[in-house]
Amino acid sequence: CGIVGYIGKREAYPILIKGLKRLEYRGYDSAGVALISNSGDLNVYKAKGKVSDLERSVEAKDVSGHIGIAHTRWATHGEPCAENAHPHYSASGNLALIHNGIIENYATLKERLQQRGVKFRSQTDSEVLVQLIEYIQVSNDLDLLGAVQVALHEVIGAYAIAILDKRHPEQIIAARKSSPLVVGIGRDNEFYLASDATPIVEYTDKVVYLEDGDIAVIRPGDELKVVDMDNTRMHPTVKTVDIN
Ligand code: GLU
Repeated sequence: CGIVGYIGKREAYPILIKGLKRLEYRGYDSAGVALISNSGDLNVYKAKGKVSDLERSVEAKDVSGHIGIAHTRWATHGEPCAENAHPHYSASGNLALIHNGIIENYATLKERLQQRGVKFRSQTDSEVLVQLIEYIQVSNDLDLLGAVQVALHEVIGAYAIAILDKRHPEQIIAARKSSPLVVGIGRDNEFYLASDATPIVEYTDKVVYLEDGDIAVIRPGDELKVVDMDNTRMHPTVKTVDIN
């Protein structure tokens, strides 16, 4: 029910946890975080319960990294438990994805992927997104953006998503349809991502409210790039929000 992301020079984990706490008012049953560590590992931690339960469960773990995504889940498909909490991994372990919303045709997509040998780890509708994106990426030799564009053509439903690829620690890809998602443009080659502006406003007053069909390619050092599923370039308006 809540999404937070960060990429830039700072340590991502404290920003992500603080952001999840700011989104707690939206309600949730579990929480999770994915980080790419400085040595290139993709670390995913999830817990049933509160954000504070997640914090306790990672006390002895490696939470380093300058890129990460985090999620609070309000279960719609699959009981609330650690396996069904987000982020979800792809089969290879290269991709991690968080999702808010509902994928209406997930059962059809999941069955198709299972018939082709893809193993699922959770009961959620969301996992089908990360498995489908990877399946398309590998079978068509596409980059992550290309695979996301092809995959979203096949998906029916509502989503705000964010995806990491551990082979590309310089990038987060995010997309939305019928679920809100905001990108914060930081002051120092850094970006924030969240379901609403509350986790972002303490860091920057420059935000982009993504629109339905938008796919954002978020890379420090580059301008925020927004395209649609057919790779048409969008020209999002950068809004200045009040910081008090
Ligand atoms: N439908 C997804 C699930 O049950 C996402 C729920 C949400 O928006 O938090 O895992």
